[in-house]
Amino acid sequence: MKITAVRSCVLRQPTIEMIGDGSQDTILIVVETDEGITGIGEVDSAPYVCKSIIDTPASHMACMGLGEVLIGEDPLDIERLWRKMYDKSIYYGRRSVVIHTMSGIDMALWDIIGKKYGVSTGKALGGVYRDKIQAYCSVLMPGTEKEIYELVEKHMHHGYQGMKLGWGALGESFEKDIKLVKAARKALGPDKKLMIDIGMRWTDVKGAMRTVKAFEEEDVYWVEEPFHPDNLDGYARLNRSTDVRISGGEEVGTLHEFRELLSRGCVDILQPDISRCGGLTIARKLIDLAEQYNAVIVPHAFKTNILMSATLQYISTLPNAWYLEFCEQDTILRQTLTSPIFTIDDHGFVAIPQGPGFGIGLNEDIVEKYRVTAND
Ligand SMILES: [Mg+2]
Repeated sequence: MKITAVRSCVLRQPTIEMIGDGSQDTILIVVETDEGITGIGEVDSAPYVCKSIIDTPASHMACMGLGEVLIGEDPLDIERLWRKMYDKSIYYGRRSVVIHTMSGIDMALWDIIGKKYGVSTGKALGGVYRDKIQAYCSVLMPGTEKEIYELVEKHMHHGYQGMKLGWGALGESFEKDIKLVKAARKALGPDKKLMIDIGMRWTDVKGAMRTVKAFEEEDVYWVEEPFHPDNLDGYARLNRSTDVRISGGEEVGTLHEFRELLSRGCVDILQPDISRCGGLTIARKLIDLAEQYNAVIVPHAFKTNILMSATLQYISTLPNAWYLEFCEQDTILRQTLTSPIFTIDDHGFVAIPQGPGFGIGLNEDIVEKYRVTAND
């Protein structure tokens, strides 16, 4: 089998709000082959930049666009192709948005291998442990107690056993954070798990320690991304100071960066984003790495159902899986880009598609309607 095209297009809703919601736009990546099998992927990053990284013509042998790197290659040689993309983009890549773009392409290749052999991508990755996973409700933190109650009322009847409130009004001041967390615990009641995502906004490590101490009283299950991802010392100090689990890793890519995060004792819960970490090729290696550091993997996913479907396949392969992050944003791309869409059962579980590949298809009408670049 040979790759004949790496097509991509930017999808974007008409108005983008400056909130922490990555489901307002995306880059859709479709890898085509000479056998008519196609794989799909997306990236939670800057879509236009990702598209350029795919389409840019080669400047020289260590500075090539990723599309050109892959044309004519066998899409089943995923590990080799990951390294080829990494090496051929080394002048402008190695981290950040090039790794993000590689992640989206890698995602599509893992979809192809499942489709080629008629199995789920989880099986292709080495085999599965489960066919369903408990989901937690993931929403943005509103600014008032009343709005928190409304969110709980709206979503928590789904059988969800836990809710994460993140970004939004969090991180403005420690006092306000404690107030919001108390309100969230009151609204949720004593039994549901409560997770808090600071969205990288804290800068004062000692202040963070005192605040997380106060969170202990509200039985917060984990505190996510307290600091800027470069503040690894802050992470490690905070983690040592509290019984509340510290989570992070959604901004991190390549094994080099994950090893740094784990070896310095920054997190208890590792949250790779399959569309940013280096794709499933890196994510599957993280299973062994995280185990060596006694960290649990709860992947980040706050995009469309393309990322959610890849994440579900990944979760099916985790020996120890706690949760699926279920983005409850009402954005059009989040809700309608693929079919089928995923639903929560009465006990808060999501069924993992049995393939082939990711087991989903694109809703082409929605692609055409929200496409703002050529699909080439
Ligand atoms: Mg987060």
